[in-house]
Amino acid sequence: MAVLQLGSVEIQPLLDAPVLMDPHRFMPQHASRILEEFGHQADARGLFTMAVTCYLVRSAGKTILIDTGLGSRRRPGFPVGRLDGALADAGVAPGDIDLVVHTHLHIDHVGWNTVDRQGGAREVFFPRAEFVIQRAEWDYWMQPERMHEPGNEHLVECVEPLRHTGRIRFVEGEDAIDEHLVFVPTPGHTPGHVAIGIVDGPERGIIIGDASHHPMQLLHPDWSPAFDVDPVLSAKTRDALFDRVIAEGRTLLAGHWPFPGIGRLVRRDGVRVFEPLG
Ligand SMILES: [Zn+2]
Repeated sequence: MAVLQLGSVEIQPLLDAPVLMDPHRFMPQHASRILEEFGHQADARGLFTMAVTCYLVRSAGKTILIDTGLGSRRRPGFPVGRLDGALADAGVAPGDIDLVVHTHLHIDHVGWNTVDRQGGAREVFFPRAEFVIQRAEWDYWMQPERMHEPGNEHLVECVEPLRHTGRIRFVEGEDAIDEHLVFVPTPGHTPGHVAIGIVDGPERGIIIGDASHHPMQLLHPDWSPAFDVDPVLSAKTRDALFDRVIAEGRTLLAGHWPFPGIGRLVRRDGVRVFEPLG
């Protein structure tokens, strides 16, 4: 699928990196059931296909990037992102991005905010962009003690440098991004986690961020990843979000589901089913 059109809004999925999910690491408390029930979807090593997908959105005259992937740094346990190449393939230069919108501030969603140039200079990769961030998310992660915890280096490298640029727009709750895009609070994975609703007339979509990581959660919304800050709340949020997507007939855009993670949710024989588009 090249571009999804919802009314006047264009959405292009950009693959930053394919990733393989090990259920023993990702959802250790559910790993044996995952392999029992979904093992046929795993590769020979028991790993499941996932993705780190960002979405390029053209809405109301602006070029908007939803999340910025893993970035260009080598990090143990993560592939190096190639969003820069995906943007170039789409004919988009970093300077063309007007807005970067974050669903949350985890390592695989803020990576390309900055790059380290040869000689050690760190610069913001999108030279004109305004960064739209939920205040609750910023306040949770950017407390000095949390920001400097081992494993949170990405906050220092990719989020902290935005602080003094004058290019952060802090938002709260269900704030609108523009006339077609609005935040949908979906807490649990992180405290300020948001999905992004897209509405233009009768056309509706939703970019769900990390409210779900794999389609197997359609059947088991209570299977929360180990990385969810509040796994009980995230399970409730996930379950309600899936039902809302079905009830409202929204096109679902799920950045961690196998690329491009775009389709419809329907209920068939009482069970939620994903029907991919394209
Ligand atoms: Zn993620």
